[in-house]
Amino acid sequence: MEERKELLKKLTLAFGPPGFEEEPRKIMFDYLKDYGEITYDKLGSIIVKKEGNSKTPKVMIAGHLDEIGFLVKSITKEGMLKIVPAGGWWEHTMLAQRVKIRTSKGDIIGVVGAKPPHELEAEERQKVVKMDTLHVDIGAYKDFDVKDKLGVRVGDPVVPDTDFVELNEKVYLSKAFDNRVGCAVVVEVIKELAKSNHPNTVFGVGTVQEELGLRGAGTSAEVIRPDVAFAIDVSLANDMSSGGFEKDERLGNGPAIIFMDRTMVANWRLRDFAIEIANDIKIPYHVTYVSGGYDTGRIHLLREGVPSLNIGIPSRYIHSHSSMIHRDDFDNAIKLIVEIICKLDENRVRTFLNM
Ligand code: ZN
Repeated sequence: MEERKELLKKLTLAFGPPGFEEEPRKIMFDYLKDYGEITYDKLGSIIVKKEGNSKTPKVMIAGHLDEIGFLVKSITKEGMLKIVPAGGWWEHTMLAQRVKIRTSKGDIIGVVGAKPPHELEAEERQKVVKMDTLHVDIGAYKDFDVKDKLGVRVGDPVVPDTDFVELNEKVYLSKAFDNRVGCAVVVEVIKELAKSNHPNTVFGVGTVQEELGLRGAGTSAEVIRPDVAFAIDVSLANDMSSGGFEKDERLGNGPAIIFMDRTMVANWRLRDFAIEIANDIKIPYHVTYVSGGYDTGRIHLLREGVPSLNIGIPSRYIHSHSSMIHRDDFDNAIKLIVEIICKLDENRVRTFLNM
């Protein structure tokens, strides 16, 4: 399999809800260990330090390692699992979906049980189900003890169970593009920088627990103390309904330069600098607002503040079992970030400070 596609496949299929990011972290480690010194914060975020021609400025690029998932909340007498979400889920998308549970005896598959439509009251059919009414069925029957036989415990982590599918030569379908695509961009940017001169030191980071409130972003930034920071994450592609192909936020329209989200207004000088470079290298891109939050929401508030910007890879159907990205957007995001970093010297970073 072609290298970048394989990286995306490995990372999206890795098991890693918030607090259980061992697998994606190990994948990042394996890809990055030869490119610089690897350290960690004490929550488990991974940091690779890639030195360029200068120790400063310190540039942080972060993708979050965690994916949305669940933890087992309780086990009923019938051996069904009740779950609590770790990250934002719309219950509607969960019915009849397969999940993977990591138990003390290994990984098992379960399904979020759904009644057949004719068993539902008319009123019930109109409603969106509530998380606490859902159960994960792992095949229990009378006298089959799931705790004993399968090793399942309260607190065990749960993620969607899906495949990686190449829908066509440009579009990939998998779970967790939010945000393993960001982790993959960080890996590829660090690899590309090994072939170029950059007037700074770059810290490529896989952060933990973003989906629960940007937690690893704060702790890893504390380790690095960056002078300038980027979060690389998904943005939204909204091109699946009427008029979609007229929208800027569509698959194949290049990386998103995000001027504001729920947790930060981008440093506008840094934003304009990124736009200038995107124009120079002639890649498609778009400037947009996103209603979610990003790791920079925490990083830009560190100490006396850090000029920050988010770069998004447009994705359809995030926070569900099956999300979608366009390969060219991934490649162009890498290209853009590498070009930006190659021009980020001390003087440039000084111009971003609002004085
Ligand atoms: Zn994300």
